[in-house]
Amino acid sequence: MANIGYIQVVRHCNHFCGFCSNPTTPYVHTFETMKVLVDDLVDRDYFGVILTGGEPSLHPELPRIARYASDRGLHVRMITNGWRLADPEFAQEMAEAGLKIAHVSVYSVRPDVEERLRGTAGTLEKAFAAVDNANRYGIEVNINCVINRLNADHLDENIRHWLAHHPHIRHFVWNNLDPSMGRAEVNQEQYTPRLADFELSLHRALKLLHQSGRTFRVEKVPLCYMAEFAWASTETRKIVKGEERIVHFLDAKQTVRQTDWEHIYADGCSVCTLRPICGGLFDRGNAYDPGELYPVFVDRDAVVEKIIHDPRDPSYQFRSMDAWRKDFDRRLAEARAQGPQRPAHDNNDHPPASMSPPGAPAVGQITEQGLRLFESKRQSEGRKAAQHGIALERVEPQPSADNQPVKTGQ
Ligand code: SF4
Repeated sequence: MANIGYIQVVRHCNHFCGFCSNPTTPYVHTFETMKVLVDDLVDRDYFGVILTGGEPSLHPELPRIARYASDRGLHVRMITNGWRLADPEFAQEMAEAGLKIAHVSVYSVRPDVEERLRGTAGTLEKAFAAVDNANRYGIEVNINCVINRLNADHLDENIRHWLAHHPHIRHFVWNNLDPSMGRAEVNQEQYTPRLADFELSLHRALKLLHQSGRTFRVEKVPLCYMAEFAWASTETRKIVKGEERIVHFLDAKQTVRQTDWEHIYADGCSVCTLRPICGGLFDRGNAYDPGELYPVFVDRDAVVEKIIHDPRDPSYQFRSMDAWRKDFDRRLAEARAQGPQRPAHDNNDHPPASMSPPGAPAVGQITEQGLRLFESKRQSEGRKAAQHGIALERVEPQPSADNQPVKTGQ
């Protein structure tokens, strides 16, 4: 399986997105603490690692940890706002360190919308420079886009821009907004779209990409809003292939192992032919309306075949439908044997203990320096929040610097 893990290398950022789901914490990583997490993914036989944040390029040891992960055989990727990759020297340094894919996140090619969403001026030019620099030094570029209320109506306009001006970009990833964490949780009204808000523009965007030979994935969008592109759903692909994901959070959640890709369903889902392979409505924040879901009556096997016979994804071991059905039925039976109820997240939206893998290494530390950085970021972000009319995320009680590192699930 092509499992890919995530390591949050920092949790601060030089942008101020109103829907950031992973804002600043006092936890910090050294090269040594990140190395342990890379080793953990290698020991789990993972295919790759995505270095993320916060803005990962703000970590001074990022090239070094990318090189270490690459030397250990992991396929190394990074999710970035592109600000530092706009510097050609940094792009070259990351390429030489083994970075294979840069997921550059851009929400809108309309400068006024992008600026409002980022809470920062001038980010679009930097992102455009970043994608071209990365390409120049042989780093593949993917565009990541969080679907939200302000860009929901022009996702296809974004794609037209990329195709016309940066034709080297071959892969695009959409994430529907997660309204359950960080600033996204406390600013749901401003940023959470209705599913119907983006249904048409997402479909137009996917069609444009498909016609142009690009590839794409869509995360946290129920299959009834994916039309003929259901095979591109990240959750569906993981359900079909039985994949898992490890995220090494740089906060109190620490290490989370996700194997269950199902979320919320409506009554009508019970008659939907795609129900067994659909992730449903991702909504731990109660911001979306399950009433927007509607059953579809299409051939489930046709969706599965597209996934397991995808020539660009050689990761799946069962290549015939018969073999897949046997494997899928076995996994379903195992899941049923574990009981009907999936354990709930706690009041702070921390995942249940069952998602903390036994023996997972401790993630990051709270240091005096981390606490100082956190306090100063809270102050400057408080000013930005007031300026942009958004609320700051809730701050959970943090362990102090002298009782670190924290390890959960023990
Ligand atoms: S109706 Fe339910 S099961 Fe069917 S595609 Fe929509 S969310 Fe998925």
